[in-house]
Amino acid sequence: MDRRVGRAVEAWLEWVSRWEPAAYRGRSRICRRCTGSPVLIASGIPAGTPHQVKHALVSRVQRIVDKVVDDYTEEHLPMLHAELRGADMWRVGGYDPAAGLDPEYDGLDPDPEPTEAGQPFLFTLAGLAAEVQPEEPLPRPPLSAEEKQQLRREIELADLRAADVGNEVCFALMGHRPRIEAAIERFVEPQVRAMLDELSRNLEPPA
Ligand SMILES: [Zn+2]
Repeated sequence: MDRRVGRAVEAWLEWVSRWEPAAYRGRSRICRRCTGSPVLIASGIPAGTPHQVKHALVSRVQRIVDKVVDDYTEEHLPMLHAELRGADMWRVGGYDPAAGLDPEYDGLDPDPEPTEAGQPFLFTLAGLAAEVQPEEPLPRPPLSAEEKQQLRREIELADLRAADVGNEVCFALMGHRPRIEAAIERFVEPQVRAMLDELSRNLEPPA
């Protein structure tokens, strides 16, 4: 786990050294992945850091947790695994705008807010995805009472495993705090300060 988290941090450090606010857009919607994330707290990233920078790290670390829980599910939780496989098969062939994205964009809304540009978009990626979505396969026979119970138990086990792995990655991440904080200080802070200066200059009344 330490090694995996270390690799994720390395990749993020590499990415953040090239970060520019030009690629950064403020978002008014609350990000479900980052809000209250224990990963963020463990990372030591200051609260005022731009969301994109925080999100990039949270996503990379989240991928580690997801992978471990997926592997565990595949190996030990046959019913849940079958359920998830069924859900995946339904997506096959459709266009998923969120598929294959770099971790920096993982979990972000693929479309900008329509009101942001002041004009509605002619089409959106989400709309396109809805159009090319294959038809839902015929519903399969309902689960028996025992099967439902088994599925609930397996979901519980998967949740427990996810919580355990989450704790492990947070603990491992805390060892990287100094490097993470130094990278924010070096690559992000000066750019944020420059943006704020620029903003306050523009707000000054003309002499
Ligand atoms: Zn986020």
